[in-house]
Amino acid sequence: MNSTKLTGKLPGSDAILVPEDLRNWSFPGSCLAVLGHPIGHSISPQIHNAALGEMSRHNVDFRDWRYFRFDVSSGQLKECLAMFSKLGFRGLNLTIPHKVEALEALDWIDSEAAEIGAVNTLVFRENGRCEGYNTDGQGLERALKENFGFPLRGGKIILLGAGGAARAAATRFLREGCSELWIGNRSSERMESLIKALAPNKEQKVQSFLLDNVPPNLLLSFGPSTLVVNATSLGLAPEDDSPFDFSQFPEGGMAYDMIYNPAETTFLRNARTNGLQVSNGLSMLVHQAARSLRIWTGSEVPVEPMFAAAKGVLEERLNTA
Ligand code: NDP
Repeated sequence: MNSTKLTGKLPGSDAILVPEDLRNWSFPGSCLAVLGHPIGHSISPQIHNAALGEMSRHNVDFRDWRYFRFDVSSGQLKECLAMFSKLGFRGLNLTIPHKVEALEALDWIDSEAAEIGAVNTLVFRENGRCEGYNTDGQGLERALKENFGFPLRGGKIILLGAGGAARAAATRFLREGCSELWIGNRSSERMESLIKALAPNKEQKVQSFLLDNVPPNLLLSFGPSTLVVNATSLGLAPEDDSPFDFSQFPEGGMAYDMIYNPAETTFLRNARTNGLQVSNGLSMLVHQAARSLRIWTGSEVPVEPMFAAAKGVLEERLNTA
């Protein structure tokens, strides 16, 4: 493992780098990065660098590992991936709009990522091979266990949304043995393509509905311990409505919003005031990041410093908004 000391001016976790910065890349350490467009909202560098800092206290090999963020637009991805690989980056996270486009550049894809049809984690092996993984579903599973003690096996779940995050969630729910999955989306087109892509087993029931036409009997079949997950982007703006009405919801339910900023969306507020247990998506963000870091480093990853770093940055942003 490379343990050369970093030299030169090291960009901080809050720096937004661009592909041109790779031309004079002079950091000899083990580099990781997130690529997206836009990327200014991403707090991945702070989360990963906090974990790496803690890991380096116990293992000097991690002293020269750093995580950066790059603003890379759609047309630049292929060329950039070749540059990151050539410069010896260990791996990358991908966010909007690259998760699907990157599939073409892979030499190998993990089976769950293939089923989802998108990757959020790339690994560059020493032989130049590029591998793709998707850690979103695993991050969500871990978050649901930690926040609610919710076991996916046998679980009854209402999933809102049919975009990339919903796809990762639905795939994980079915792979881990949920018994009943209802998926609601605003538009039918993406919903149908998601339903077609899923592979439930014979015992698993998968049904769909449109958000503006919730079947009146939807909640009748659901007893206590039902989970509702918001994987739509409705709620990102503080004035957004809730994609779901919780007024008829059975007691003992749980609501998870993948959105973490704002910390409490209208969806979560409605769920909370109707007596449900609630959690925002910070735990999913941290656990999917921890899973990626585990893949890159092959080591146990401490999540406490990741949570602390994430909360610190979000609070700072709130105070300076
Ligand atoms: P996509 O763009 O792929 O999908 C967006 C989804 O939101 C679609 O189902 C879309 O419906 C729905 N939607 C958008 N606007 C509205 C609206 N006004 N009313 C109702 N539904 C709407 O995004 P992603 O799947 O990548 O992300 C979804 C959410 O999950 C985002 O908020 C994202 O920040 C969050 N996320 C959180 C993660 C975490 O770690 N916490 C990880 C990944 C995502 P339609 O098909 O009709 O357009």
